[in-house]
Order: sequence, then C-alpha cells, then structure tokens
Amino acid sequence: MKICAATGNPGKLKELRRILEKQGHQVLSQKELGLDLDPEETGATFAENAAIKAAAFAAASGLPTVADDSGLCVDALGGAPGVYSARYCGHHGDDEANNDKLLDAMKDVPAGQRGARFVSAVCFVLPGRASLTCMGECPGRVAFQRLPGDYGFGYDPLFIPDERGVEGGGKRPNTEGASYAQLTPAEKDAISHRGRALEALEAELDAFLKENNAE
Ligand code: IMP
Repeated sequence: MKICAATGNPGKLKELRRILEKQGHQVLSQKELGLDLDPEETGATFAENAAIKAAAFAAASGLPTVADDSGLCVDALGGAPGVYSARYCGHHGDDEANNDKLLDAMKDVPAGQRGARFVSAVCFVLPGRASLTCMGECPGRVAFQRLPGDYGFGYDPLFIPDERGVEGGGKRPNTEGASYAQLTPAEKDAISHRGRALEALEAELDAFLKENNAE
C-alpha cells in the first residue's frame, strides 16, 4: 500500500520507511508528495499528537497516512521531557541542545535511578475516515554522557535500552550497555518503541482495512 509518512524529521522518516517497507508498503515523504506541513502539536498525549499529525497529512495528501508521535519519559524527571521531547531545550528539533539539557537535569541522579522509556504512538488514518492508533515502548536508562555511535538521531546517544535486537531475528539483553546510537538499524528496529508500535500496527492493519472496506 502507498502510505504518506506524516513527518518532517529525517531520522524518524528513515525509520518509518525502513520498517514499513519491510512490511511491504511504499512510503512517500512529504517532500516526495510536494507537501510542506508542520501541524501544531497541541495534544496532551503521544496518541493525541499522532492523530493530529496523521489527520492533517491525510487531508493534504489524500493517501492513507502514518504519523508517529514519540518521546523519552525519564522516571527521575517525573516523565519529562515526554511529549515535549522535540522542544525540551526551548526550541524545536535541536538534538544537541536537548541532549545537553537532559544531561544537565540528570547530572546528580545516581546509576540505579536513571530509568527511562521511549514511547511511540503510531496513528494510521484513511483520509477523512477511520483511524487506528498503536503504542510501543522501549525501557532502558539514561547514560551519564553521550556514547559514541554511528546510528540514530535525537536522544539516541544518551539512551541505553534494556534489550537489543539480533541480526537475523530475535532479541537479547543489552549486556554491553550499548546506546540506541550504537545499535545497527536491525538491532534498534527489533526492540525500539517505534519498531514495536509499527509491529502492533502491522498485526492489526488487515482487520482494520477490512472493517473499513479499504483493502
Ligand atoms: P515528535 O516529532 O514530536 O514526535 O518528536 C519526537 C522527539 O522525540 C524527537 O525530536 C526526538 O528528540 C525524540 N525521539 C523520538 N524517537 C526517537 C528515537 O528513536 N531516538 C531518539 N530520539 C527520539
């Protein structure tokens, strides 16, 4: 199926594309569709914001659309930055400044209390019609400094997931303490919040399309 990816974030687009294409879909970016949208994320939850973005892009593209709203929820910070992850430092989409702010907020938090989880809400919308939202989470902890790594985006250099994927299939405990940025795409997708939300979407999509006469 041709799916519009409702995002302007290149890191997220790359992940949505590789996971959905593996599931057999063709993913079109807003650039490829000639769109330039940045809907205001006024929701209080990941699910609300994903629905806002998916509806806006579906209306503009006329295509089935997937939006992801995601973020990092840190236990010691009462769940922050949460839905404000992209603009934690005060302006939108500055990964370096967001990471600096998180390291500073966590500088006195001891090793045993640095638990966090990434959360993703993925909303699939048929233009002007029904929508389906699926959630995914990845538990882990916040590192004491940026960990070197060639992959990923956003908070990836600071987040150490409890598990990592195994090339060729499966998962295993992340005994090395590798950050998201140190995992290969396949190792991240198998355990990531976004990978899990899109896996749940894949499991529910056929029934949803049938229910809505949209196969
Ligand atoms: P959104 O566009 O409001 O969903 O912004 C999500 C923000 O959460 C991004 O800008 C990143 O800062 C962060 N984020 C979401 N998913 C990831 C991820 O997989 N790795 C690192 N940071 C992420």
